Amino acid sequence: MTDRLKGKRALITAAGQGIGRTTAEMFIAEGAEVFATDVNSDLLSGLDCETYALDARSDASVRDGVERAQPDILFNCAGYVHHGSALDATDDDWDIGFDLNVKSMFRTIRAALPGMLERGTGSIINMSSAASSVIGAPNRFIYGTTKAAVIGLTKSVAIDYIQKGIRCNAVCPGTVESPSWHDRVRKLGEQLGSEEEAMKQFVARQPMGRVATTAEIAALVTYLGSDESAFTTGHAHIIDGGWSGQ
Ligand code: NAD
Repeated sequence: MTDRLKGKRALITAAGQGIGRTTAEMFIAEGAEVFATDVNSDLLSGLDCETYALDARSDASVRDGVERAQPDILFNCAGYVHHGSALDATDDDWDIGFDLNVKSMFRTIRAALPGMLERGTGSIINMSSAASSVIGAPNRFIYGTTKAAVIGLTKSVAIDYIQKGIRCNAVCPGTVESPSWHDRVRKLGEQLGSEEEAMKQFVARQPMGRVATTAEIAALVTYLGSDESAFTTGHAHIIDGGWSGQ
């Protein structure tokens, strides 16, 4: 590693497992002062940085967490997958999906922006997905809709602060091997009567014949947090093993 984030303070939501955790580890290795947070603080044990509970669905929790970190890099990773079509979704599912996947980012960004503006620097990275405005995925009605909204939010923030030293980008991964992905495979396996068949279906939509590792996504997030990416803002960076590129 190369100290690409030396001198930067980084706040990460949903750093307890999956992409968020691997990104926290990579940020630490690259020299950042990392504030790794999750709604479930037990999951943060073992990370070699400051850790504390932050519920991305609570404005008070977000304000406290951002105040403590004063981040130069904000990685909005919190999000969840609702499974189903428009006919499977309830109003509650819709509200929860938008609250956790989109409004959480409004909360963290409005809390972090004043400090970033004062310091004249900031990189905000929002977790979207290839399943968004990039590509439709079956049974991802609420998920795809919310992740498309993340791209719109990202572009809006980027343009409003482009002259102020603040960048805002989104990352759009294809399928990534993470704890919640293994849960989704297990659930589909129960429906299909075979976990192996479920795994095959998930892998089949990835033209490379495999899903991503969390480290592959964390590497892109690290680049976007670093000054190496100084000339990119307002973009949805697709990292999906060619899923949407065929
Ligand atoms: P994951 O789903 O396994 O873990 C999610 C983490 O979010 C958990 O640690 C959980 O405690 C935390 N969390 C849940 N609610 C929270 C809240 N209110 N506030 C703070 N934290 C909360 O991890 P993952 O699969 O790596 O997903 C991380 C992000 O990446 C999500 O936004 C997801 O939509 C996105 N993503 C994942 C994939 C994939 O295939 N895994 C693909 C594209 C995008």
